[in-house]
Amino acid sequence: MRSRLAKIVATVGPASAAPDNLKLLHEVGVDAFRLNFSHGSHEDHARSVKAIRSVEKACGNPIAIIADMQGPKLRVGPFEGGQIELRYGEIIDIEISEELGKDGLIRLPHPELLPALTPGNALKFDDGKLMVTITDVNASGLKARVDVPGILKDRKGVNVIGAVLPMSAMTEKDKIDMKFALSQKVDFIALSFVQTAQDVRDAQAIIKGKARLIVKIEKPSAVDDLDEILELADAAMVARGDLGVELALEQVPAVQRKIIATARALGKPVIVATHMLESMIDAPTPTRAEASDVATAIYQGADAVMLSAETAVGRHPATAVAIMDRIIGAAEADPTYPDYHTRTELNPQATINDAISQSVRVIAEVLDCKAILGFTNSGSTVDGIARERPPCKIIGMTTDPRVASCMALTWGVQPVVMDDPKNFDDMLKMTQKVAKEIGGIPVGSKVVISAGIPFGRPGTTDTLKIATID
Ligand code: PGA
Ligand code: MN
Repeated sequence: MRSRLAKIVATVGPASAAPDNLKLLHEVGVDAFRLNFSHGSHEDHARSVKAIRSVEKACGNPIAIIADMQGPKLRVGPFEGGQIELRYGEIIDIEISEELGKDGLIRLPHPELLPALTPGNALKFDDGKLMVTITDVNASGLKARVDVPGILKDRKGVNVIGAVLPMSAMTEKDKIDMKFALSQKVDFIALSFVQTAQDVRDAQAIIKGKARLIVKIEKPSAVDDLDEILELADAAMVARGDLGVELALEQVPAVQRKIIATARALGKPVIVATHMLESMIDAPTPTRAEASDVATAIYQGADAVMLSAETAVGRHPATAVAIMDRIIGAAEADPTYPDYHTRTELNPQATINDAISQSVRVIAEVLDCKAILGFTNSGSTVDGIARERPPCKIIGMTTDPRVASCMALTWGVQPVVMDDPKNFDDMLKMTQKVAKEIGGIPVGSKVVISAGIPFGRPGTTDTLKIATID
């Protein structure tokens, strides 16, 4: 069992997709793999799922698989010469059409955008590197003034600033990809560019409970409706790449804190993503600022931190994971680390789950318990306990391998797949075995056990037992 509490998500790509590489990445610290459906074929992703599931079997350690949908990523059409130059202050024509862009013209192959755009809205290109401000909107297109000049190349991404776009977070491609991902039994579907709670409902109507839903928060409108969106979703991602283009980049740190605090209060896992160890795409060590950024996410209470290009196409995927593991470990070993967790107001409700979760944390603190052993059917008891950020690992025991893989993303949880106990005495025997064999908990240590009696029925956790390992 890893001693680290927060989790590591790694993106699979050419640098990591070989089965031996996936195994190595898991061994050095990866708890969840992200398959990026913006790249790769269905065959590639199916191969990765198969390889990850065999690592899971070989190591006996549940691993979460996240299928990340591309979403409605807007792109400029291709140019005759492959690129054009945007000069400062010039007024440029933007045609809403699918055809090839001539010199001095940008084509935007997205007719659905036109009704939503007004003068004053801005368009950013290529991850925000270039920017124009719309000065005029007519039936066939736009005129815009170049504010941030540069070279604009074929098919670069476009972010529209200042408008809520009349488009769903799911494209036709996403719907096909989602069905495929569900057929592969992934644990999570990540939905990109969510704007409204309706986007979440639409995705859930397709997923039908066959996977959990991660909402990627990367649009200002999603930040505005954060409570409602996170209430509906199962987990969240602070997608800082697009978020920092859609919003002024100086707003990203505050929004990151807000998303983490909101998700934490709801007891939903939250991932901080993008650029975490960006310089390690090439370099064998990160910058000190990057190390500090990873630690900051940990102090703020994130369940997981994510690597993107570092593991997908970088030169040092395993080293990036190992370094991330060390940074998290060092932050968690800081004696001031637990203080940060009390800063999120949890507002426990008058529910058995909240009462049990809070009590488990208090018992673990007062008795200096070395582990919490939670029996769970749906994972909700364990999520509730994790929300409290208790001072020791939570061993989440379930009969359902899918629930176990999902719990791999949750802060502090070591998932274990096992049968339900037959009775109370059986439960005591099983927890002794799990605590020693999987948890490595020394004889004489105290642990807390949470369970629902009778065993095996969801939503029944009502029993706490304090035990000493013997
Ligand atoms: P992406 O999402 O890498 O799929 O764009 C993450 C982000 O925008 O930060
Ligand atoms: Mn994104």
